[in-house]
This record gives sequence, C-alpha cells and structure tokens, in this order.
Amino acid sequence: SREGSIGDDEEKILVSVRLRPLNEKEITRNDLSEWECINNTTVILKSDMPERSLYPSAYTFDRVFSPKSSTKQVYQEGAKEVALAALSGINSSIFAYGQTSSGKTYTMTGITQYALRDIYDYVNQHKEREFVLKFSAMEIYNEAVRDLLSSDCTPLRLMDDPERGTVVERLTEETLVDWNHLQELLSICEAQRKVGDTSMNETSSRSHQIIRLNFVDLAGSERASQSLSAGARLKEGSHINRSLLTLGTVIRKLSKGRNGHIPYRDSKLTRILHNALGGNAKTAIICTMSPARSYTEQSRNTLLFASCAK
Ligand code: ADP
Ligand code: MG
Repeated sequence: SREGSIGDDEEKILVSVRLRPLNEKEITRNDLSEWECINNTTVILKSDMPERSLYPSAYTFDRVFSPKSSTKQVYQEGAKEVALAALSGINSSIFAYGQTSSGKTYTMTGITQYALRDIYDYVNQHKEREFVLKFSAMEIYNEAVRDLLSSDCTPLRLMDDPERGTVVERLTEETLVDWNHLQELLSICEAQRKVGDTSMNETSSRSHQIIRLNFVDLAGSERASQSLSAGARLKEGSHINRSLLTLGTVIRKLSKGRNGHIPYRDSKLTRILHNALGGNAKTAIICTMSPARSYTEQSRNTLLFASCAK
C-alpha cells in the first residue's frame, strides 16, 4: 500500500495504446478491423462474440491513439513529458510494447527523433550552461547484450558499480558533435540491430549531473505469452524471453507501489534499467496493436499488460 498521496501522480507510469491502421497484408486477406478508439482514452472490441465475454470489451488508459493519429501526436501526448523530465535529472524511459508487426519500431523511431529534437532545442536555448550529450545503444537478444555502435558481436558483460549501479562493460559511448552526427549514429544502430534497445546519456559538465533517457524498443510480446503458456515444459536454452517477462513483473509490482521485493536482478534488461525504473524515475509505455481480427488474442494480451502497468 502507498503512504500518502503526495507524489503519487508523479510516480505513475504513463500508459498509452496506439492502434495502427490495417496493413496491406491484412487488407488483402480480408481481415477486419476489430478494435476501435471511441474517445481519447478508451479502446473497445467492436464485435462482442460469446466466447469473448470472459474479458472486458472496453479498456481505458491515460491516452489511446487511433489509426489516424500521427507519431508526433503520440510523442506529444504520450511521451514528451517523460522525455523532458530527463532534463531535470529524472531517470526517464519510454517503452514500446506489443506483438511483432504492431508498430513498436515505427513508433519508437519517430518518438526518438522528436524527443532528441526537443533536447537539442533545450540545449540550444540554454547557452549559459554547458552540456555534453553522450549516446550509446545496445541490443538484448536472448539475454546477450550487444553494442549497436560496434561491429564486434561479442556479448558485453554487466558489472555492478557501487555508484552507478549496473553498468554495461565496454559499451561504446559517443560524445555527440551535432544533430547530423546523431543521425549518423542512429543509422549505424538501425543497420546493426535485430531487436533493439537504445539509450542516451546526457551530462552537464558543470553540475556533473548525469541525465539519462532510455528509448526501449522491446522484443515482440508474443514470445512472452508463448513461453508463458508453454510454462515449465520449456527446457533450458529454449527461446524464453526472460527480459520481457521480468520487465512485465517489475512494472506490475512498481505500479502497485514500491514496497516489497522487485526482481530487477532476474534479467539483463531490468538490471540495466533498474535506476531508470525505480526511485527517481519517470516511465511512459506505449502499447502498440494491430486492429486486425486475426490478432484479437495478441491484442488483448497487450491490453491486459497495459492495464497491469496503469
Ligand atoms: P514491430 O516493431 O512492432 O515489429 P514495425 O514498427 O516494424 O513493427 O511495424 C510493422 C509495419 O507496419 C512497418 O512496415 C511499419 O512501417 C508499419 N506501421 C506500423 N505502425 C504504423 C502506423 N501507425 N501507421 C502506418 N504504418 C505503420
Ligand atoms: Mg520492431
């Protein structure tokens, strides 16, 4: 249980859902649009077939974005306040969660651009302060951490630093020269990644304050639910997405308050993001989904995950 109400609003995880348009493949196979945003905060399942009555048909979040919404709108209303909080020293993270092909990378790529643009504008408007912008990017694939700015594919080790918490050993950190340099680094990452996770560090050299903003493009959530349903029968070495499952547990526990054991150490992703999730932190989760009838099960799992994070 939480103590008092002061700060509750600040600590809350900002949860949004973005419904993408039907894509060509779905249209070609005559798939129907099964979900609809009825206002800014509620998405509903259109048809109410009997076997679906086990689950709610309406889901309400901080914000829902219809297929007509632009990524700019998703950024402004679903992520901007979290991105800008990084400038005042808060550990900020923006996640995209959803099944494969639901629009995570599409959404996160755009949000990254808008957020970094805002940060650059802020830096340019505050010439009296000296900023050093540092950029690093990594991918976690089957619990192996890889540097996206290096062509070396050797997995990187995690180290526990007494001051900084968990750090990724030998992760490349580039000091940004200008906007074009940032764009070059982003395209290197894009070329290197399979399933990605980018993060950006910013340091004000005068105050020695480290500002950290994480952009996290998660693995397809269908892997988490598949491994869940297969349960204990999965042998070691099978394709369990430990990071995604643990993140779900951590977020569920955090959304219920910060008391009790939170299993940050159970996966690479949650170890790396420990500081960004617990303590002085702000988090936005954008859950992406296809409106297609053939993905109703997956979309519902995504909405249930989003509901747990609220
Ligand atoms: P994911 O990263 O979740 O696997 P992607 O972001 O790669 O999915 O999206 C799959 C495809 O759908 C891409 O071709 C992408 O351009 C397109 N797409 C995703 N979201 C939208 C959207 N909101 N509007 C238009 N196209 C989209
Ligand atoms: Mg993707």
